[in-house]
Amino acid sequence: MEHPDIIFVCHECDALQRVSNIEPGNVANCVCCGGHLFRNPKGGIDKPLALAISSLILYFVANLYPIMTITIAGIKQDATLTDSAIVFMQQGSPELAAIVWVPSVLIPGLIISGLLYVLLSIRYSLGWRYTTTILIWISRMLPWGMMDVFLLGILVTLVKLSALADVVLGTGFYAFVVLIIFNAAAIASLEPHLLWECLDDRADRELEAEYD
Ligand SMILES: [Zn+2]
Repeated sequence: MEHPDIIFVCHECDALQRVSNIEPGNVANCVCCGGHLFRNPKGGIDKPLALAISSLILYFVANLYPIMTITIAGIKQDATLTDSAIVFMQQGSPELAAIVWVPSVLIPGLIISGLLYVLLSIRYSLGWRYTTTILIWISRMLPWGMMDVFLLGILVTLVKLSALADVVLGTGFYAFVVLIIFNAAAIASLEPHLLWECLDDRADRELEAEYD
């Protein structure tokens, strides 16, 4: 992706500077303090897009297949992520159900589908509505997606339960682990500056078209 000359404010020292094109795979640093300004990632938007599509597939597998199967006194019980929240609801603890379900199922689902929407809209110049709003909401929701914390909870439960019952990890658990890695990679490979630049270009074109 070509970067035209652009005025940048350093987040570290507030120095104003003009930054010209940088080659893919390179990073632009501040001329005053050497702080990170932005990078021009290799593969542009294709890499986060591929990772977001993989994350969505893994998200469905992680949520539709059981996380673990517990056998106590010959009684077998499968549990998906949502099942564990439903059990809390049935036991009269809707707040616990929300604490489990919202950061481990709802928010990651919204982030992954929102990311896919934004990346598809930009990559294929589809001009879908609300792309900018969704991008802003994704950055707001990121701190509230806590799949890794939930994974830690599953592992602690596994250790505690293994003394009392036969516990077998299910397909959902393995999909969940790979999903955490893919989701983190998708977010890490995103360059916000690149996304905003693409959205700005589109807004400029729309404005020009309006005045022509
Ligand atoms: Zn600086």
